[in-house]
Amino acid sequence: MSDCVFCKIIAGQIPSTRVHEDEHTLAFMDIGQVNPGHVLVTVKKHADNLYALDEVQAAAVARTSVRVARAIRDAYAPAGLSVYQANGQAAGQTVFHYHAHLVPRHADDGMALSWPVKNPPREKLEEYAGKIRAGLAKRSLA
Ligand code: 5GP
Ligand code: ZN
Repeated sequence: MSDCVFCKIIAGQIPSTRVHEDEHTLAFMDIGQVNPGHVLVTVKKHADNLYALDEVQAAAVARTSVRVARAIRDAYAPAGLSVYQANGQAAGQTVFHYHAHLVPRHADDGMALSWPVKNPPREKLEEYAGKIRAGLAKRSLA
């Protein structure tokens, strides 16, 4: 999938703010995000969607999502965290390479989320990611 935007991010051809990387998964900050700590968890080998994940990828995605979610909790203490995985254009998906959205929720968010947003504070992404990376490092030492 040479024209896949996430494959290009994984290959380093498109820059991204990385939170975590291992053999099977990459977690990075969504440039369309509005909430601090909105993270995308994706697989390093192209898979169109959830149905295309093999067992190893599926387990790795779950592990990375749980670890990053805990680090987000450590960093921001949000009131909650939502995990989104849309499938297909009808579900509003815009990038067709498997990824989950980890979105910290705050008490006054309500049920509706309006993302992707048009003018994200990109200059803040490195700061947000740094806090999450620090949480991951602390937990891997423990
Ligand atoms: P989807 O709507 O497909 O579930 O989510 C795709 C997400 O990928 C969008 O929220 C969008 O902001 C994000 N995205 C698209 N292109 C890029 C990019 O080049 N870099 C980063 N970091 N995120 C991207
Ligand atoms: Zn891809």
